[in-house]
Amino acid sequence: MIPHYHLFIDGEFKDSGASVDVINPATDEPIATINMAHARDVEAAIISSRRAYDQGPWRALPYAQRKDYILKIARGILDRAQELATLESLNSGKPIKETTFMDVPSAAQTFEYFANNFERFLQEDVIKIQSPIAHAQADLIREPRGVVVLIVPWNYPLLITSWKLAQALAAGNTVILKPSSLTPLTALELGKIIAAAKLPKGVVNIITGSGEVIGEQLCADSRVDMISFTGSNSVGKKILEYTSAHVKKTIMELGGKSASIVLADADLELAVNGSLCSIFLNQGQMCTAMSRILVEDGIYEKFVADFINKAQRIKLGEATDFETQMGPLISREQREKVIACIEGARAQGATIACGGTIPAALNLQKGFFFEPTVITEATSSMAIFQEEVFGPVVCIHRFSDIQQALELANDSDFGLAAAVWTRNVTSAQELAQKINAGTVWINTYGMFFNELPYGGFKQSGFGKELGREGFLEYTRLKNTLTDTTPEGKPLVNYWYGF
Ligand code: NAD
Repeated sequence: MIPHYHLFIDGEFKDSGASVDVINPATDEPIATINMAHARDVEAAIISSRRAYDQGPWRALPYAQRKDYILKIARGILDRAQELATLESLNSGKPIKETTFMDVPSAAQTFEYFANNFERFLQEDVIKIQSPIAHAQADLIREPRGVVVLIVPWNYPLLITSWKLAQALAAGNTVILKPSSLTPLTALELGKIIAAAKLPKGVVNIITGSGEVIGEQLCADSRVDMISFTGSNSVGKKILEYTSAHVKKTIMELGGKSASIVLADADLELAVNGSLCSIFLNQGQMCTAMSRILVEDGIYEKFVADFINKAQRIKLGEATDFETQMGPLISREQREKVIACIEGARAQGATIACGGTIPAALNLQKGFFFEPTVITEATSSMAIFQEEVFGPVVCIHRFSDIQQALELANDSDFGLAAAVWTRNVTSAQELAQKINAGTVWINTYGMFFNELPYGGFKQSGFGKELGREGFLEYTRLKNTLTDTTPEGKPLVNYWYGF
């Protein structure tokens, strides 16, 4: 018997009546069933969150109590760390080494970080105004936004859920969380952790369901104050349309086509090994995947040879095996999309230098596995060089001078992240200033910290996650202005001369 998960609405697990299978992408077999929310469930979640925000205790709790609740969630994750890591791997196909050492501990640390720092971030500011026409004191107050809808993609299910949830809750909001229907299981387990932590009812509601069916209702409703979305550009644009009717706050963490620049003076071993991680971790299904690697002429041949040699040695297998370095893609559809991108590149004249196929090994036939793929001889105008593939596919491209590398890196509709590999850190930092991306890693890749605001430029979206700035997205700033004219009355008293 596989487990069945209910919706979590108003502090209770509720059966919506309709359910679908959740698939293990390594075997194409169901590992659980989940409820699919209907319009009435969305309505119930909105009513619950609204009531919890307007009438419930959450936003007015003493900070120490709010902190305690959030720390309980962090502890709940750590207490079940191994179980959650295994579940995340089973459901998403992400190798268990990644879920064990990155996703699950980082999720707990994010709750800890915002529990320990929100009070500092919420600190009020006072501005004294003394001008010829006014003496006043302005108190700047950070308030929660209200009811916040959190919409999460399938590639980092627990981690992105935790980023959004920790910040929104620490700021005093109530939330409706909608995980991806492909990978909802760790978010639903988090629901159990939240229930055990006894957060006031309605502070967190979790509804699973098709974004196409319930997305508009959830995002357009005037009782919802903010949408925090991470996902594809096409869905992000729809959400902006839904929210325009009531003009509400959104943050958009969208796609990418990030570039990595490898200069001739780089530590070659580090640049190759780091670049392998930058495209093949999580099967390349990372918004910050460095899917374009630009290599300086002098080392291009050696870099490509070393990179391919190592890419071919990456061990594919079941995600729950600690020996596995690359698991399956998330779904059959995603693999078909990746194959179509590669065939498009081939048809346009690019060279598939390695991979490009479904692996032949018998034990990999049931799942959605795909070989690490390297494409060379792609021009910058080709779709493979411009569009997000979201799979283990990288274009390696040569350049002859830094100006050309910069132009290639910035020649993109996206601006999420970039990397630079060189021994000359000063020139890398100068180059980083000219790169149009929200994050630039120098001689490293994929380092995220709770202290650092993260988010892209251009079509990679707007708004930040994490850090003080990311946290403040979940608040609104009010100023209360009080007249302090030392003697007499303020100007308004005399304006009409009465
Ligand atoms: P997606 O846009 O298909 O889905 C994301 C979420 O939106 C899911 O929960 C889905 O159910 C929901 N959704 C779908 N249609 C909806 C609708 N009409 N209204 C409301 N919600 C709807 O994205 P995905 O395939 O799950 O994730 C991959 C994408 O996410 C990639 O483009 C990747 O770059 C992006 N991503 C970005 C970041 C970032 O931080 N910038 C991080 C991770 C992933």
